[in-house]
Amino acid sequence: MITRSPADLQRARQRDAIPLAVTPDWQSQLARALRDPHALCQRLGLDPAWLPGAEAGHRLFEVRVPEAFLARMRHGDPHDPLLRQVLPLSEEAQPAPGYVADPLDEAAHTSARGLIHKYAGRVLLIASPACAVNCRYCFRRHFPYDDNAPSRAQWDETLEHLRNDPSIHEAILSGGDPLAASDRQLAWLVARLDAIPHLKRLRIHTRLPVVIPDRIDAGLLDWLSDTRLQKVVVLHVNHANEIDDAMIAACTRLKEAGATLLNQSVLLHGVNDSVDALAALSERLFEAGVLPYYLHVLDPVAGAAHFDVPDVEARKLVASLREVLPGFLVPKLVREIPGEASKTPL
Ligand SMILES: *Cc1c(COP(=O)(O)O)cnc(C)c1O
Ligand code: SF4
Repeated sequence: MITRSPADLQRARQRDAIPLAVTPDWQSQLARALRDPHALCQRLGLDPAWLPGAEAGHRLFEVRVPEAFLARMRHGDPHDPLLRQVLPLSEEAQPAPGYVADPLDEAAHTSARGLIHKYAGRVLLIASPACAVNCRYCFRRHFPYDDNAPSRAQWDETLEHLRNDPSIHEAILSGGDPLAASDRQLAWLVARLDAIPHLKRLRIHTRLPVVIPDRIDAGLLDWLSDTRLQKVVVLHVNHANEIDDAMIAACTRLKEAGATLLNQSVLLHGVNDSVDALAALSERLFEAGVLPYYLHVLDPVAGAAHFDVPDVEARKLVASLREVLPGFLVPKLVREIPGEASKTPL
């Protein structure tokens, strides 16, 4: 006869207390992400005065917010730091000097379909054209994704480039959001990367574990645990409020699959441009088992000028962070300059 310990019984009771199929799977959550500026304003109880701006911005770059991310925003607060990242504003339609469609000149560096090889030793692969959330400050808000969603035949061409260049040690899955692709597609791709002998590392740049933590499911953990490549997952969190229990649980699963977890943020006016906000973010990231990696200054993409934080201010903020945090919780302040061999420290 099998006896069960009190801990076993407790675990089973907890498991059964969660009704099955109440939370849709990640694909449904992705498909059902909110895509209507009216609905966004209504759900958060915003004053109707915000609507015309939301509609104007939406016409330039559509609204997209998953339910799980929306749930972390404060009701009735137009200045909520999570809402600011996804709420279109009328300012987006105003041209600003120096703000352009392709600030990183990526069009010039896309050597094969879905591949950007700018830095020594590592290549960036556009593994999925889609994103789970549309961030208003995104430097790819005007990116021609449709031209960069390779078919398998096109992938073979891209992979050939990697196979023929022994100086490449790291493949970076990017997008869009690479984890918006299906596990079938990702397992196929990673198996092929795994077979390239000079590749050492697989890096995944994703916001999905943050905005839809259920994305980190058994299907994903299967292919991630399977590869011989060393794994680094670079998350994208800008504010401490983005980190809830479900997101921490997703991070724990990624770590159990052998991934090192890092975070990159963008310094954004009205979201995280204070010492308190940045310090709280670093502390909270560490609680989730994630180390701060980069703090990017805004890329000058058309439509995002209202997020700008001047360089002098950015430097001051990071200097103050150094006074209140251990060194390993202070991210590197960087800018991406087209043509440079790496991100440029400020
Ligand atoms: C940012 C970036 C990388 C990675 O740079 P690290 O400094 O290694 O994080 C690689 N390729 C491209 C095209 C990038 O934009
Ligand atoms: S690429 Fe990243 S920053 Fe840009 S919209 Fe997608 S998730 Fe947001």
